Amino acid sequence: MRHVAVIGSGPAGYYSAEAIQKQFGDEVRVDIIDRMPVPYGLIRFGVAPDHQSIKAVYRRYEKVALSDNVRFVGNVLVGRDISIPELQSLYDAVILATGAPHDRPLEIAGASLDGVIGSAAFVGWYNGHPDFAELDPPLNVAAAAVIGNGNVALDVARILSKTPAEFAGSDIVGHAFEALGRAAIRTIHILGRRGPHQIAMTPKELGELGHLEEAVPQVEPGDFPPAIDDALLEPGQRKSVTHLREFANLPGGKPKTIVFDFFAKPLAIEGAGRVERLLVERTRLDEKGAAIGTGETYAIDCGLVVTCIGYQTPPIEGVPYEADRGRFANCEGAIGEGLYCVGWARRGPTGTIGTNRPDGYEVAEKIAADIGTGGGKEGRPGLDRLLAARQVDIVTFRDWQKIEAAETARAREGNPREKFVALAEMLGARGR
Ligand code: NAP
Repeated sequence: MRHVAVIGSGPAGYYSAEAIQKQFGDEVRVDIIDRMPVPYGLIRFGVAPDHQSIKAVYRRYEKVALSDNVRFVGNVLVGRDISIPELQSLYDAVILATGAPHDRPLEIAGASLDGVIGSAAFVGWYNGHPDFAELDPPLNVAAAAVIGNGNVALDVARILSKTPAEFAGSDIVGHAFEALGRAAIRTIHILGRRGPHQIAMTPKELGELGHLEEAVPQVEPGDFPPAIDDALLEPGQRKSVTHLREFANLPGGKPKTIVFDFFAKPLAIEGAGRVERLLVERTRLDEKGAAIGTGETYAIDCGLVVTCIGYQTPPIEGVPYEADRGRFANCEGAIGEGLYCVGWARRGPTGTIGTNRPDGYEVAEKIAADIGTGGGKEGRPGLDRLLAARQVDIVTFRDWQKIEAAETARAREGNPREKFVALAEMLGARGR
């Protein structure tokens, strides 16, 4: 029998468990450990609440979770409740699938002013992450600036623009739903330090901005290269740029505007104790496509800044880490003897949910090559003994099903669930 521990129950964690099951069949036991009492990581806390079709992939993970040789061990923080060396002594392979839940910092003056919020915190707030329930972002302001030209910037701008009716069928948490319903924001700037051809936004997500009830996107046609240059783009990117160009033809007359500020590099954030304005330098592209400051500056008045400039994997003591790339130092997923990483913890925060699947299959093959017919460490009983001795209150998948049923039962009408936000509420819903 082989024993494998997967740290993290998001997409990378479950795809790895699935792949390991397929690789070893009945000859393996997989424990998926998560610091949260609830599974699915990014699916629950990262994917936008109005993108339920993307979240539906959790059904596939559920199938894996319900199989006999896979176990969910929630409410266990690796590094506090158990160490990596302890896990390595108990399991034949330990896979880090910890994602990239920390913000890459925006290193400019004023970035620590009140009202400057990283996307991990802002997204966590509207998705009911316990760490960000108390965020209380300033929404009683006329304008917000969203920094970054990726899909997270789109999510944040869209969530800030939607009317309460547009959240029907979503699982946005009650505190965010109510706060956003009272928001005064009328202008949302999305800042890209480069141009329309360099956006990291995908077509479907960008297209959604053109169909909002109360908000209309606005672009400056002068920011675009000649239309003929779009032919040089790969098809997906060309589609995105076509959406952007079409935004110029949308009728105005809606109360909210989403302004695309291209060639706009954040220089500093200013305000008396809290953000009042964002100073920006206009850029141009050099021959390699990098943004170069032109020296021309302007200010955007705003009371909220959300930075959406990428994420980092939190380091774990004793595990080699590449600080500049915000991920574990690894060679195609291998970190050291019996220690592996997958997903954003391996590659950095890029790609879609499905991109994590091949990582899982690759790591399963690596583990098979490394341990062959070997294995034989103690696995589950050893983990249970250690956690019991430390009085760790573990959450099983059956417990999660009770939490899930309680969240479904208390959903606002038409919505799939009303998430518990406090850890104590989640633990209490197990009904023990
Ligand atoms: P991303 O796609 O890497 O975009 C980050 C953006 O931040 C880029 O436009 C980048 O500009 C900009 N940036 C980085 N450092 C900056 C700085 N110092 N100042 C100004 N701008 C800066 O990251 P993301 O939006 O966080 O998304 C992460 C991953 O999740 C992506 O793969 C994304 O597609 C995926 N995702 C998918 C969905 C969906 O499918 N619905 C939703 C959300 C996220 P440069 O290009 O100039 O570096």
